[in-house]
Amino acid sequence: MKKSFVLSLVMIAAGVAAADVAVKGPDGRLEFRLRAENGAPQWSAAYDGRSVAEWSPLGLVTEYGDFTKGVRLGEAKKGRFRDAYSLPQGKRSKVKVEMNTAVVPLLADSAKLGFEVRVGKNDLAFRYFIDKATTVRREVTGFAFASGAKMFATQQSKPMTGFAKTKPSYEETYVYDAELGTKSGSGEGWTFPMLMRLPGADGAKDLWALVSETGTDGNYCGCRLADWEDGCFRIAFPMPGEARGKGSVEPKCAAKTSTPWRTLTVGDSLAPIVETTIAYDVVKPVVPAPKKPYEFGRGSWSWIVWDDASMNAADQRKFIDLAAAMGWEHILIDAFWDRIPAEEFDALLAYAKERNVAVYLWYNSNGDWNDAPQTPKDRFNTRESTEKEMAWLESKGVRGVKVDFWGGDKQFVIAKYCELFEIANKHHIQVIVHGCTLPRGWERMFPNFVGAEALLASENAKFSGWGMGSTPQWAATHPFCRNAFAIAEYGPVFLNKFLRADNKSGVKRITTDAFELATSVTYQNPVQNFALTPNNLTDAPRESIEFMKKVPTVWDETRYVAGYPGKFAVIARRSGKTWYVAGVAAEDVEVEIDLSFAGGTREKIKIARADGFVRTLAAAGM
Ligand code: CA
Repeated sequence: MKKSFVLSLVMIAAGVAAADVAVKGPDGRLEFRLRAENGAPQWSAAYDGRSVAEWSPLGLVTEYGDFTKGVRLGEAKKGRFRDAYSLPQGKRSKVKVEMNTAVVPLLADSAKLGFEVRVGKNDLAFRYFIDKATTVRREVTGFAFASGAKMFATQQSKPMTGFAKTKPSYEETYVYDAELGTKSGSGEGWTFPMLMRLPGADGAKDLWALVSETGTDGNYCGCRLADWEDGCFRIAFPMPGEARGKGSVEPKCAAKTSTPWRTLTVGDSLAPIVETTIAYDVVKPVVPAPKKPYEFGRGSWSWIVWDDASMNAADQRKFIDLAAAMGWEHILIDAFWDRIPAEEFDALLAYAKERNVAVYLWYNSNGDWNDAPQTPKDRFNTRESTEKEMAWLESKGVRGVKVDFWGGDKQFVIAKYCELFEIANKHHIQVIVHGCTLPRGWERMFPNFVGAEALLASENAKFSGWGMGSTPQWAATHPFCRNAFAIAEYGPVFLNKFLRADNKSGVKRITTDAFELATSVTYQNPVQNFALTPNNLTDAPRESIEFMKKVPTVWDETRYVAGYPGKFAVIARRSGKTWYVAGVAAEDVEVEIDLSFAGGTREKIKIARADGFVRTLAAAGM
């Protein structure tokens, strides 16, 4: 008697509260716990017994029940989730999934909210099941990261700000190694994904954790994390002012559906972060597979250096010639192509076709959700206009579209994205989105979703010296955060010395050629639109051009080699029998890397600020 009394006192003193439900990953290192504390549902997570997330709130307030208080847990059903799938757009072509699961009803009065968690080796994901059709008034889901955690995070902007009131568009700067609780500059909190470092005490390794959400479709809105308050980051709905104030902030859910998954990836190095596929592991395709597979690849793109002035048939022919000379698969023709007279435009399409160069065309997503004036617009803002335009694109043999200037994260906008992917898929048209939200599992849900901006992209380098100066830091950030969670259409690889058509004026490039080449590998997107210009065929080093002719855009495998977010990144990607190892640095670094997995050696490398390297290695045993 006395002994157990002492034991329970010790447990209380150590803050170890009993969980009602605990689920561990297959190797037992990552553990998720669930309890109802005085009627409030809560979760926590630990890795190797170290706290990652302390007890954190769970629950929704719906029209049919308040599941944030007075809740008791129903009987947990435990099981195992196994899946195997291919991900043609991605960082890894074939994925095997094995996760332990629990489904637990959250019971309040006579109403029920389902809850499910899946726990893998380094990833966990949880979601709610909505029983009855309802508007979700509020979500209290939170992430109470353990004290001492450091944030690598990018803020949510104020709505209706930025170019032509097109924000939020996930084009914001990051804070690095910021104290837990650091407030966002906008006061609107942080967008997904957010990376946390949990410093190890007494020589223990740091833990890394990436938090995000996936599986978002027209049944919910895109969410963000509000600024740290009362010991956690809480899920927040879109801001009322988004999309010119149109549409509700609160999601309306159909009966017998689920919310998006909230995900947490944890490890004692950055490898599980760089290599995670959790965004895809817990979602399913939502449209039929295409009759013939989508073809991805490399493209030329005049707008990035030659600007709007190049939107004429003569200049576009020069970029078709560039693509053909490089052996690239396509050209992206950006805004204002609709100013090219119809006959000339048809001749341009024929010119591309003769040279075996596929065509992607730019569109403005509007509608009237912002003031972006670029044309063509009003083509994808209604279902009818989208059906009509996609049929026309298919008849013209166009391969894909890049659709810009989206209206934020509200449910009706998320539904627009999904509608566009769905209709485009019927016409075998691929879709890249820009000026957009974070893709949340869409690569697997929609086989024709092939690119998203949702970061400060290469255009910022040509816009200003600030953007150019920030380029190395961004390149050293995204493999660990934004591009770890979803494909990212950054528009990499400038080989001009100056980022204008004359190659003499405008912003001067501060990055080396080696840095630029490396970004073709560190930034991952199945459709890459490179920033090379026709003059680079003769004025860039021969090796650079030869490398750019060969570099793939889809990968069988992706591996973390070394790095630190915002400082440097060394990433390896395998295509068939070849490993591409690429490094970029935002400060001078000297580091030991181990390439034995690729048949290489353990070696010390040095990379200077704004420099980089890329190396190919024959994969051993392939
Ligand atoms: Ca942009």
